[in-house]
Amino acid sequence: MRPRFLVDAMLGTLATWLRLLGYDARYCRALDDDALAGRARREGRVLVTRDRELARRRAAGRAVLIRSQDLSRQWAELARALRLRPRLGRALSRCAVCNRELEPLARAAARPLVPPYVHATRRRFRRCPGCGRVFWRATHMRGISRRLRTLVEAARRANALPSASRGRGRGERKGGLRARTGGRGRRARRSP
Ligand SMILES: [Zn+2]
Repeated sequence: MRPRFLVDAMLGTLATWLRLLGYDARYCRALDDDALAGRARREGRVLVTRDRELARRRAAGRAVLIRSQDLSRQWAELARALRLRPRLGRALSRCAVCNRELEPLARAAARPLVPPYVHATRRRFRRCPGCGRVFWRATHMRGISRRLRTLVEAARRANALPSASRGRGRGERKGGLRARTGGRGRRARRSP
């Protein structure tokens, strides 16, 4: 199983890119610390936070403290802490706005929903079951794809660095997340 995330209010951009990479990443703006910690634990999500106190709370279960303010570094911190191995094949499978998995949309059904030029020139469409947005490959996606490739490569590099957290039973391999040692339900926390 791939890890699922609960991202705190300070890390909205990171949450968006996690979704673009295909990760299930809920983003909470309104919840206080207790509610966030409880929700992460209840939903079996890794809490991703910039709040040192919150990351330390036992009630949060598994948590990763992010120190950097810069997206690339935040991503490298997270990828390294959880040994994430994102795959481009999973990218762009989720709505970046509401985190739902996109569903295929028949070309005929897309017709009234997209501009005529887009309908005439694109074959494949997908729709978000949450907000109803329709997605298709567009020229601006080249920039996004480039960034996604950079993030995938950054994760590979981050995981290649020696790390104190190695061998602690966390790891994402091809085909999904699996604990390297130990079973499911194991709680791993990153010390600040
Ligand atoms: Zn949506």
